[in-house]
Amino acid sequence: MSRRRRVYEGKAKVLYEGPEPGTLIQHFKDDATAFDGTKHELIDGKGVLNNRISEFIFTRLNEIGVPTHFIRSLNMREQLIREVEIVPIEVIVRNVAAGSISKRLGIEEGTPLPRSIIEFCYKNDALGDPMVSEEHITAFGWASPQEIDDMMALALRINDFLTGLFLGIGIKVVDFKIEFGRLFEGEMMRIVLADEISPDSCRLWDINTNEKLDKDRFRRDMGGLVDAYQEVARRLGILFENDTGKPTGPTLVKS
Ligand code: UDP
Repeated sequence: MSRRRRVYEGKAKVLYEGPEPGTLIQHFKDDATAFDGTKHELIDGKGVLNNRISEFIFTRLNEIGVPTHFIRSLNMREQLIREVEIVPIEVIVRNVAAGSISKRLGIEEGTPLPRSIIEFCYKNDALGDPMVSEEHITAFGWASPQEIDDMMALALRINDFLTGLFLGIGIKVVDFKIEFGRLFEGEMMRIVLADEISPDSCRLWDINTNEKLDKDRFRRDMGGLVDAYQEVARRLGILFENDTGKPTGPTLVKS
């Protein structure tokens, strides 16, 4: 068997060279990390669930005209993606206060925000991904003003889409983190959604009980992470319990 060339290895994913130029294979590992990698565990099955959830969301986003790096699913842990140049900025969208904004501004977790708020962090583990402003981003050349506008517009569309999708299955999208890349096509370059959208990168709470269905279960030592991710997949209609049936798609929750 020929060994694939590993292009990049991150905390939860590996990127391999793809079958054609300009493509990569994104492989989801079972590693869970938090606090800039200082907390680390292997959680059996997490990679498969994140791959499935993320591929479902990226497929839907492609369908509604949000450009993404996703091309197609390959297997339980891998997807074919377009090679992009990652913008070194994490874009965070918040609907409800939780995590760092609660600490920073003293807002009780669970408080709805007056409107959706976008924050930017500079992708740098050694510095702990510090929050930065548009001024820093343009001054240091991490992204241009036009790219920031594009990322913000896409982030709000993605937020509207995710909020509606998850509301329909009884889940509140508290906040999420996304990353963008530059896709070069001949002379043209455009900003597309990259990385992943999964319970690793979102805060997802059950609408009725506020039960956490996301990585906070790991960060806060609550246990039950795989059960929670399975519950998200089950409600999205993409968990094949015996791997016999076809995905059914989201099942509307009636309130
Ligand atoms: N997030 C992420 N990766 C990071 C930092 C944050 O995916 O490196 C996600 C996190 O899961 C949450 C949102 O971004 O959904 C906002 O995170 P926050 O700033 O509150 O940071 P945290 O409390 O996780 O340190």
